[in-house]
Parts: sequence; structure tokens; C-alpha cells
Amino acid sequence: MLDADFFRRWLMNAADAVDREAARLTELDSPIGDADHGGNLRRGFTAVAATLEKEAPATPGAVLLLAGRQLISTVGGASGPLYGTLLRRTGKALGDTPEVDAARFAEALRTGVEAVAALGGAAPGDKTMLDALVPAAEALGTSFAAARDAALEGALATTPLRARKGRASYLGERSVGHQDPGATSSALLFEALARTAEGTERRETGHG
Ligand code: ADP
Ligand code: MG
Repeated sequence: MLDADFFRRWLMNAADAVDREAARLTELDSPIGDADHGGNLRRGFTAVAATLEKEAPATPGAVLLLAGRQLISTVGGASGPLYGTLLRRTGKALGDTPEVDAARFAEALRTGVEAVAALGGAAPGDKTMLDALVPAAEALGTSFAAARDAALEGALATTPLRARKGRASYLGERSVGHQDPGATSSALLFEALARTAEGTERRETGHG
């Protein structure tokens, strides 16, 4: 079962990953954006980590709602409201149960991803974070590792696409040949999730 501490550790791991990869995310946002994606997410996830250090929400839903609120209020770019909505809607779908199983989390995450699509008006194939989020949420029904792999594959598959949403869409054909920064950061979030789940297994089996 996944408790509030699991979700807290996931977002802490995500904050570490974003911090480590911020330069690369900004580099990806240079040719097809405005070179701020790494900085945007670092600001957001630093705020998330700081808040989760101070406060200890009691349920998975409350952890995600709090983190989503931080992202919305601290990230200036398009990705802030989108990721904020992802976490908030996923958290809302989890309700106030103290522990959730992986299947329930997968279902809630699909609700969150649908909310991102509704907010941004994008669909898979538009060269956005949804190209990683949609297959990852689908694969989470199988395992955390499958979700991580699906997100990475989805992010890599954005390279040949022409952007139809967001800043990159202004470039038209010239957006082809570049990996989408938002899909790349989504892959990082699922990598952090899989790592968190592996750490939990080790704890449970006493090999940690
Ligand atoms: P901004 O584009 O405002 O500078 P960021 O650089 O932080 O914001 O984030 C850019 C990323 O946001 C893109 O790579 C893309 O994945 C994602 N994105 C932008 N617009 C949309 C949208 N309408 N729907 C889904 N994702 C989007
Ligand atoms: Mg940008």
C-alpha cells in the first residue's frame, strides 16, 4: 500500500531529479522554446520540497494537493499550471484515504492526466508532456517500472513530431527534430516514482 510518506518521498526524489537535470531541461527548451523549463521546474519543485519538509500532510491526496498548489503558485511558465493541475486532480481523485493501492493510484493519475489535456487542449502526438504522461499513466496499471519506461519512450518519440501546442508550435516545421522539454521532465517524474517504489520494496523486505 502507498501512504502519505511514499508520496512525499516521490516528490522529494522528483525535486532532486529536477535539480540535477535542470540545465538539460533548459537546453531542450532553447531551440523550441524560451530556455526556461529547467529554471521553472526547479523553482517549483524546490518550493514543493521545502513545503513538504515543513508540513506533513496525513494522506496521499493531501500531499499531492499541497504540492500541486505550490507548483501553480511558483512556476511562471505554462508547465506550472499543467503540472499543478496534474498533481491536484490526481490528489483530489485519491480522496482522503490514508493508504491507496497501486491500481487506485493509476486510476487517479489517469484522471489527473485527463485534466492536463483538458486545460491545455493538447492530445498525444502534439509534442507536449502528454506524449509521456498518457502512456505512463496507462502503463502504471502494470507496474512502476513499466510506467517509467513508457514515459521515457514517449519523451524520446517527441523528437520527430511537429509541435501543435505551446510555445514550440509557433515554430511550425522548425520544431521537428527536437525532443520536447515537458515530455522529458514528465519522464523524470516517473523515473523518480519508480525509484521511490524500488526503495519502498527494499525497506519492506529488509534489504535496504
Ligand atoms: P513555457 O512554454 O511557458 O515557457 P515551460 O518552458 O516551463 O513553459 O514548459 C514548456 C513545456 O510545457 C512544453 O515542452 C510542453 O511539454 C508543455 N506544454 C506547453 N503547452 C502545453 C499544452 N497546451 N498542453 C500540454 N503541455 C504543454
Ligand atoms: Mg519555456
